Amino acid sequence: MKKVCFFDTKPYDKLYFEQLKDQYGVEIDYFETRLGPKTAFMAKGYEVAIAFVNDIIDKEAIDVLYECGVRLLAMRSAGYNNIDFKAAFGKIHVVRVPAYSPYAVAEHAMALLLTLNRKIHRAYSRTREFNFSLNGLMGFDLHGKTMGVVGTGKIGRVFIDICKGFGLKIIAYDPFPLENSGIQYVSFEELCKASDIISLHCPLTKDTFHMINQKTIDLMKKGVYIVNTSRGALINSEDLLHAIKEEKIGGACLDVYEEETELFYEDMSYTIIQDDVLSRMISMPNVLVTSHQAFFTKEALHNIAETTLMNIKEYFDQQVLTNEICYQCTKTGDCPRDKNNRCF
Ligand code: NAD
Repeated sequence: MKKVCFFDTKPYDKLYFEQLKDQYGVEIDYFETRLGPKTAFMAKGYEVAIAFVNDIIDKEAIDVLYECGVRLLAMRSAGYNNIDFKAAFGKIHVVRVPAYSPYAVAEHAMALLLTLNRKIHRAYSRTREFNFSLNGLMGFDLHGKTMGVVGTGKIGRVFIDICKGFGLKIIAYDPFPLENSGIQYVSFEELCKASDIISLHCPLTKDTFHMINQKTIDLMKKGVYIVNTSRGALINSEDLLHAIKEEKIGGACLDVYEEETELFYEDMSYTIIQDDVLSRMISMPNVLVTSHQAFFTKEALHNIAETTLMNIKEYFDQQVLTNEICYQCTKTGDCPRDKNNRCF
């Protein structure tokens, strides 16, 4: 049995990894702590470390992991914006789970939109206190509105299919449009101008960082809804808050937040939250925040565990790493690795 270590463990992670680990010949030591420069030393003696979206995998953490003997970082996520790939290149292979359930994320995006628009969360609280008033609960028909989808990858495409069922008119922006998809592509500027609702489904890169900012918000229709189930830093949160206060933005559905790392996935209910932007945003009646939970379905957790363990097995079996990603892949999108070789 090969031993691997697992950072930022939650009970639900353990449940799914424990069910499958024997099939892959792996023994797992679970750490509740997040991976970061100060905790990376815990990986001493392990060749493989498993990590997640809010772990801080910067150069310092990578150097410590490498010194500890780690040679494979197995991300149990699709996104990888929290990794310094340049620092890892040539030292630690990085694998991820490119797809585990696009349905989970796309369905959550629509759930957020429906909840906020139709004020289901408020109605739920009211009727529990036998308050049957409808004042303040009015929404709008989705049918016939224009949905702007940013990023037409796996999740964006499932989201588009869901939107079609609601009779939404769909326009999309993606620098790599899908051919013969029937999707109506427009520029990002046009999308901002024409959409009643904008849903973000692109990765966080240096090109997409703060793509929703004061300037792009200025282009949008008054009352536009923004849905973000991708990565928090796609949105400049201060600009978003400002636009909500000005009533330019009609609603914001946020499963992710740019400063979520220290907060999300933890019970902070007894803590004085120091992040004034988040606190103010949460206090708004037209903002709905969930704690990076869009992926959180049984099917997704099963698939995450299965693919992560398969990635690890490939590593120990000296095979090509199907889901490897490296500095070259992320920088140029064109890593010279071929079918028979790893990235380095
Ligand atoms: P994907 O790689 O299949 O698709 C991403 C799409 O974005 C691609 O079509 C790509 O061409 C496009 N893109 C790249 N740069 C762009 C830009 N500048 N503007 C617009 N589009 C651009 O990825 P996916 O599986 O659909 O996931 C999308 C994102 O969802 C991930 O990057 C991740 O950040 C996020 N995600 C969130 C959760 C969650 O729980 N909230 C779970 C999984 C994934």
